[in-house]
Amino acid sequence: MTSVKTACPYCGVGCGVLAKADGTVSGDPDHPANFGRLCSKGTALGETVSLEGRLLAPRVDGVETGWDPALDLVAERFRAAVEEYGPDSVAFYVSGQLLTEDYYVANKLIKGYIGSANIDTNSRLCMASSVAGHKWAFGSDTVPGQYADFEEAEVIVLVGSNLAWCHPVLFQRIVAAKKARPGLKVVVIDPRRTATAKIADLHLSIRPDGDAALFNLLLEQIDARGLIDADYTAAHVDGLGDAVKAAHGSDRAMTGLSDTEIDQFLDLWCGTDKVVTLYSQGVNQSVCGTDKVNAILNCHLATGRIGKPGCGPFSITGQPNAMGGREVGGLANMLACHLDLENADHRHAVQTFWASPAMADAPGLKAVDLFQACADGKIKALWIMSTNPAVSMPDADKVVEAIRAVPFTVASDIVIDTDTNRLVDVLLPATGWGEKSGTVTNSERCISRQRAFLPAPGQARPDWDIIADVGRRMGWHDAFDFASEAEVFREYAALSSVSGMLGRDFDISGLADLGDQAYDAMPPTYWPVPRNAASGGRFFADGGFYHPGGKARMLPITPPDRKPVGAGLRLNTGRVRDHWHTMTRTGRSPRLGMHMGEPYLEIHPEDAVSAGLRDAELAVVENPRGRVILRVLITAKAQLGSVFAPMHWTDITASQSRINALVDAVTDPVSGQPASKGANVTLKQFEAGWYGFAVSAAPMEPTRPYAAIARCKSGWRAEVAGVRLPESWESEARAVLNLPDGEASVVEDPAGGVYRVAIHHGGQLLGLFFAACEPVTVARSAAVALIGTETPPMAALAGVAGAEQPDRGATICACFDIGSEQIRRSISDGARTVDALGACLGAGSNCGSCRPELQDLIDAVAPVKMAAE
Ligand code: SF4
Repeated sequence: MTSVKTACPYCGVGCGVLAKADGTVSGDPDHPANFGRLCSKGTALGETVSLEGRLLAPRVDGVETGWDPALDLVAERFRAAVEEYGPDSVAFYVSGQLLTEDYYVANKLIKGYIGSANIDTNSRLCMASSVAGHKWAFGSDTVPGQYADFEEAEVIVLVGSNLAWCHPVLFQRIVAAKKARPGLKVVVIDPRRTATAKIADLHLSIRPDGDAALFNLLLEQIDARGLIDADYTAAHVDGLGDAVKAAHGSDRAMTGLSDTEIDQFLDLWCGTDKVVTLYSQGVNQSVCGTDKVNAILNCHLATGRIGKPGCGPFSITGQPNAMGGREVGGLANMLACHLDLENADHRHAVQTFWASPAMADAPGLKAVDLFQACADGKIKALWIMSTNPAVSMPDADKVVEAIRAVPFTVASDIVIDTDTNRLVDVLLPATGWGEKSGTVTNSERCISRQRAFLPAPGQARPDWDIIADVGRRMGWHDAFDFASEAEVFREYAALSSVSGMLGRDFDISGLADLGDQAYDAMPPTYWPVPRNAASGGRFFADGGFYHPGGKARMLPITPPDRKPVGAGLRLNTGRVRDHWHTMTRTGRSPRLGMHMGEPYLEIHPEDAVSAGLRDAELAVVENPRGRVILRVLITAKAQLGSVFAPMHWTDITASQSRINALVDAVTDPVSGQPASKGANVTLKQFEAGWYGFAVSAAPMEPTRPYAAIARCKSGWRAEVAGVRLPESWESEARAVLNLPDGEASVVEDPAGGVYRVAIHHGGQLLGLFFAACEPVTVARSAAVALIGTETPPMAALAGVAGAEQPDRGATICACFDIGSEQIRRSISDGARTVDALGACLGAGSNCGSCRPELQDLIDAVAPVKMAAE
């Protein structure tokens, strides 16, 4: 079986993958993003390609149809809406999961043929502030540097980035660089002490949104220490004086840091030319996200530390093709190939190239405004592609109602059941990772081929093909007569020559003549790739910015006022290590489900005391917008006054845990990016009458007041809780386990508050249910391992691991499936370093994503051990 070279569909690192039709995956040693490494999510990709739950045929009102009736209906309803209410009565909401070819055709259809710019991408939620900051400073949305800069830097500053969990392979490249050059210093600026901080020489637990103040302080010091690059700024930068003036007198208190911490940071940043400042969602997802980006860019422009080996600002994107979406015009305020929608010359050039009948002439609705327009009845037809806004948008409950308010709704997706797909009229089956072919661009401007290694299942079709078919059915046959993704790519590359001729950065015209074979064989390629000129490389070392006159612009930044948080706590949202977005794929992997089996609330010990919460209990987290229930995780890594909760859980995987229901739909005024880390919440104890843990061979659903479902090796596992004790524990167990049949064995100890049920069939154990009046402490991995075996009822109900099958604990190393208890035992047996754990268990020796957690366990276990020795 031959391996196919493709690209990982998760984060913006954009790792190369070798994949086989049997689902075997490994890192591509030749890919310049990862050189053979994969993280836990990438390593488990093979577990996500099954056809379980796949959407295999078009559905209209829940009934399977062929393509013709479904697409005729879509074309007719969009055409009717445009005719009756005008082009801006329709909208597309698309995704960084789409390939560039998909994005190109969607963008061409709505901006160039329907004549509306009402297309926005879920990338608006993760990096729109970086786009806006780049455009303000550089005149274009250009990432100046490359990943190699991390390996050449002397100081790396990570701002608002939990790189260890969200971009693990890039984090491992930094870890390797630091190991090779111990002089490399790492600064982590993040209110939380995340796994990333494990390698930090300096961790700054900054006050939320204090970043702009900190980088203003830095600019002030750059000036005070005489570090402004006079030649560079004179030749290539406008606005230096005003920006420096605004930075002077910055208030240290706005950062929430001590003078010592601030001075250490200033000394490190100012102490070398080779400094890279990487930033991510902690910077972007804010009401002042664009200001934060520009505060960072100001410092690099003032010092000329940009576009040279080992230095520069670096925005890392969340999604696999967020960058491709930016390049191709997936945002409501951009045209294809980094051309500007508001520039009449750019519009005219694109309209001429497309021969389009009705070109959009004004920016469309950004994501939050788009769903508000849905709620207001202004959108008559909405097409959602490869994304789940009912979970991921801020004020998510309102977004559910907004989608319901649209007269005609369509979703293209790979799975049948998502919170969003439950709301729409038409479902269109798209091909998924492993089946589709095209290109993606990663965070360092590297275009990679994603190649099919599996056949398209059922009636599934590539997104670009579905969109083009609708375009043809709307009457624009020639413009959407694409025969292949290669043909789409050639047209896109040819359009980029227009961009190049207009003096823009995005030019891949050198790829416009690729034949089908050459397109198929295209190696990872850094843009720009102009015709007959040098390609790739860094930007801006010698100026060459994209504002008229060729100069960059520094912007005076005024940090936001400190607003009182009120009675509540600030809610920070984000990702966990082993899940991706709304878990439609990672949720299928038993390995990935064992790391974090349920949603949680990370809270500082003092805040937990104030809220009356104890570890492992359940908390109700609420505000006027919504209410969720989360497991309490008390840790000093949380910042006092802030709590953190992951964004992955949906109504499919948990009963009340859609965290974006709590997030206010306020946005950065320039970028339109929601402030996903800025909600205010109050906490109280969930008054559970009982807590439970269940594991079943049958699929379970989150039906109890609190329930979180995860896949596991033997089937499904669930954490549950109820308010009142049930009348029959057997009935309760059968309902939770989804096992109406089989023989039940029940143990009840009302005095001790312990209730246990096992379900067997033909001697085989099918389900186990443990309930108690306190959070249950059974050995979960041991219980999971018993399902499908012939373990007798009383042994199974003991709830403790047997000597022959000791408890493994929660999965820490997903690559080798090693649990926390196994690791603790090895540490106690003498493995006192991460490498030693790798040698005896394998843990941490593949992708490395778990190495910070391994070190945490060593720190927790080994000092106790040594004190006793
Ligand atoms: Fe995929 Fe992990 Fe690489 Fe990101 S770091 S692209 S999730 S393998």
